[in-house]
Amino acid sequence: MNNRFTKLGAARLARMVEISRVLNSTTNVERLLTYIISEAASLTDTEAASILLLDPRTRQLHFVASSNEITGQMADTPVPLDGSIAGAVLRANKPLYIPDVSADPRWNQNVDEAIDFKTSEILGVPMRNVDRVPVGVLEAINKQNGSFSRQDVETLTILADLAGVAVEKTRLFEELKRANKELSELDQLKTDFISIASHELRTPLAVIMGYISFLREGADSEMASQLDSVLHAATQMRNLIQEMLNMRYVDAGQTTLQLSTVDLVEVVRTMAIDADETATAKQQQVSIELPDSPLAVSVDQDMLEVVLGNLLSNAIKFTPEGGHINIRIERHSEEAWCCFTDDGIGISPDNLDRIFKRFYQIESPLIRRQGGMGLGLAIARDLVELNKGRLWAESPGLEKGSTFYAALPLKLEA
Ligand code: ADP
Repeated sequence: MNNRFTKLGAARLARMVEISRVLNSTTNVERLLTYIISEAASLTDTEAASILLLDPRTRQLHFVASSNEITGQMADTPVPLDGSIAGAVLRANKPLYIPDVSADPRWNQNVDEAIDFKTSEILGVPMRNVDRVPVGVLEAINKQNGSFSRQDVETLTILADLAGVAVEKTRLFEELKRANKELSELDQLKTDFISIASHELRTPLAVIMGYISFLREGADSEMASQLDSVLHAATQMRNLIQEMLNMRYVDAGQTTLQLSTVDLVEVVRTMAIDADETATAKQQQVSIELPDSPLAVSVDQDMLEVVLGNLLSNAIKFTPEGGHINIRIERHSEEAWCCFTDDGIGISPDNLDRIFKRFYQIESPLIRRQGGMGLGLAIARDLVELNKGRLWAESPGLEKGSTFYAALPLKLEA
């Protein structure tokens, strides 16, 4: 006898483990509910099973799944916690067996009428979440042979608990998916806005710059110096707009990628990044160390130039007058590293990764002296990654300078 029970127990346990596996891997609420009721009816050998879930706002129960088809009226009619069998199960937070529903005043026979079914007995158990708080009720209806046993109650209770956790997890998962979708729609709106605004700003600015240059040609020296200030401000504005426009590369992703094999050493040499006007104006010394032999990389050259230009302008921006900037290319195994070292303001360890997030700037925009929108590094990292590389920063600490590394895979001879 004992042996028979042990065997039965092992079989049920194996089935529960399988059920738990399925419940954990299903992320679609409807499929999950259908699976639970079919397992509930089969495990307890009953004619039907139903699930009612609690609406946390109204604190009313709703039929969400049943072996019998849930008709419109049944689905829409909420089941109150007071004066209903399911409500009693949920409130007591423990199993309830009603051997003869017709004799129970809490029984609502409208449900039977709506679905053309005859309910005789109900075994109801609470479905609980991880915190053991009831979130719904699982009902097994009309035992097919004999009457409900203790084992039926235990089995249904375990199933309901597994189901409660799974349903809540799935609900959270769907909420998360919805929130994620909303966020990406908002992100897209912001991206569209930046793209439209930068395009629209570019045209009038080009006209302004054209006129200033024209006026400057015929101006006397006092006027020329004033116009130079205007031109300088307009150039800064053009750089900001350019930074916004660079986002188009990132948002278009792989589709705009125009790969070609280029010599990284030659790219840096021809960009003449050691002859920057701003660095000259700040009396900074820009040194450049290039290897003698070429280093071939397969990249989108326009994107690469945006990245290198950005790293250089940051090094200049965040290094005080008279500071030093060193640009070098190193070969590391199957990669070429483009390194920008400055002896400027440095970066604290907790900011080393944050600076690559869009719009993140270490200094508050209200007090910072440097221009910029906090987009450059985020764009640069995306562009480097689009080209299968990595971009990161290192710094010994504040006021101790920093080094930015752009690592790109070398195109090696086959
Ligand atoms: P922006 O330069 O427009 O502020 P970036 O995305 O290029 O935006 O850089 C983000 C932030 O990272 C900067 O605001 C600055 O705080 C920090 N940063 C970037 N480059 C350096 C650098 N070379 N030295 C110190 N801090 C830097």
